[in-house]
Amino acid sequence: MTVHPIRFSSFKLIAACLLLAAPTLVFGDMIRSVSSENSSALPLTLNATMPITEVVTVQPIIVSNTDGTNTAEFFGTPTQQGLIEGFVDDIWAQAGIDILFLSPNTWNDTFANVGTLDPRPTSDLNTVVTNGDLAGVGSTDANTIDMYFVEVAAGFSPLSDNTAAGLAFVGAPGVTQFVGDNLPTFTAGQEVVASVVAHEIGHNLGLPHIVEVENLMQAGGSPNPGERLNASQITTALNSNLSVLIPEPSSVALMVIGAFAMMLLRFRQPRA
Ligand SMILES: [Zn+2]
Repeated sequence: MTVHPIRFSSFKLIAACLLLAAPTLVFGDMIRSVSSENSSALPLTLNATMPITEVVTVQPIIVSNTDGTNTAEFFGTPTQQGLIEGFVDDIWAQAGIDILFLSPNTWNDTFANVGTLDPRPTSDLNTVVTNGDLAGVGSTDANTIDMYFVEVAAGFSPLSDNTAAGLAFVGAPGVTQFVGDNLPTFTAGQEVVASVVAHEIGHNLGLPHIVEVENLMQAGGSPNPGERLNASQITTALNSNLSVLIPEPSSVALMVIGAFAMMLLRFRQPRA
């Protein structure tokens, strides 16, 4: 088969333009609040889990102002962080997806942290993601989700310490996420943080908003909040480039045995 280099590269150029154009067009947001353990907050509302077959990697970037002050909340103490990440895993286990949070990067950048307009335009998400890559705090892996923890999420005004809100690309990696300072300190708050973060990850995996009671991808978590995923959403998420197959232990073992056998064969070949 002959490959025509010019045609091939024009095709790649067009494909690249389409990919670059997509994130600027579609955003998905989410906001939820809970003020205390005794409020009407429900525990996570989930369907059955599936065996874990794929992994989605998230690179958190904790943003401060340029002078190092006004640092955005992430997931609280290491203990609280473990609980919140556990709840995010519980939600995505419905799709057989493990969510892997990498060790957070930090970034001092006032524009990324709070923006200049109230409310922040949704287009600030593009600027934050682009500038974060230039500053070297975003992941260099195209399949990793860069999640910027900021004091004011793109698309929002400043919010209370009992609120979590995020804005995400739909079908492309990139999130600006606000976590109110109080939320990581109690279970219902940890669940609200996990629910919003899992919702934003859903957008990146290609899920739009849906009107379906107790579904994770409802706009604003209404009419009836919950974290369920339906079969069609699970298929979409698993087909996303951001969700990467985890090799089964048996196939890893086969690959190792195969590589070893090939090494032995090479070794036994007579040399000239
Ligand atoms: Zn949304």
